Amino acid sequence: MKSIEDMKDKMLKADAVLIGIGKELSFEQIEKNPEEYIKHFYLEKNDRLYEMLEKKENKTEDEKYIFQILKEKAKLEYSSQKVYEKLSQLLQDKNYFVITTNTDGIIFQSDLEKDRIVAPCGDIHRLQCKKGCSDELLNTKEVYENIINQYKEKGTVSKFNCSHCGQELMFNVRNNETIQTYREEGYLKQWEVYTKWLSKTLNQKLLILEIGENLEQPNLIRWPFEKVAFFNLKSYFVRVNQSLYQIEKEIAGRGEGIKCNGVHFLNCELEKTML
Ligand SMILES: [Zn+2]
Repeated sequence: MKSIEDMKDKMLKADAVLIGIGKELSFEQIEKNPEEYIKHFYLEKNDRLYEMLEKKENKTEDEKYIFQILKEKAKLEYSSQKVYEKLSQLLQDKNYFVITTNTDGIIFQSDLEKDRIVAPCGDIHRLQCKKGCSDELLNTKEVYENIINQYKEKGTVSKFNCSHCGQELMFNVRNNETIQTYREEGYLKQWEVYTKWLSKTLNQKLLILEIGENLEQPNLIRWPFEKVAFFNLKSYFVRVNQSLYQIEKEIAGRGEGIKCNGVHFLNCELEKTML
């Protein structure tokens, strides 16, 4: 694949690199066997509660609840970051910014600089009121640890609810079900940083790299990236995607679509250029 061979060269010559990350680089796509990962996560910690609940038939409501929370907590601490490591190696010393539509939050556990990432659809590291009654966002890990510790010590479950209206809590993420109640406070400040950064790249040699983004929310990465590529005549646009890799005719001279799964692209193809 000729286009991948000169990727590193493009990266070296760029003044700034804009990265868009979509579903192909999400937890579910990277970790082919999430159940195994979760099991190992607790075995390594010598924590037997998960294993015990997993084996138990006819779980009580409390047990089901704790089991679910344990699953989600393991995901919060997911650190098999081979894929994102490749990306951060590649971006080392570069002026970059990453926007992701993924809500699994795993990008924040990578070596990428947190102040150069924006996640407009939120992420599971924060909880909010299910009704969205207030702008209060809670740290998911802390809330879960409290619930789990109490269960281990006393055998009881006390669910955390919104301290304002008493409703259940939900992840601070935007999807089809939460579109009316999603609180945007979690990312808006960083969004401002992102748009400012982007406006400064207008006359710079900008490498735009879109990896694994599908068409669910094209107004966040796909369409805006095409627009940036169209107006910045010094830019180069690379769209990596297993199936939706085509690029618009208008930017075809300054960009290309690479038919490749995002994980494979970072794990295998790009590696060849880094040797
Ligand atoms: Zn509330």
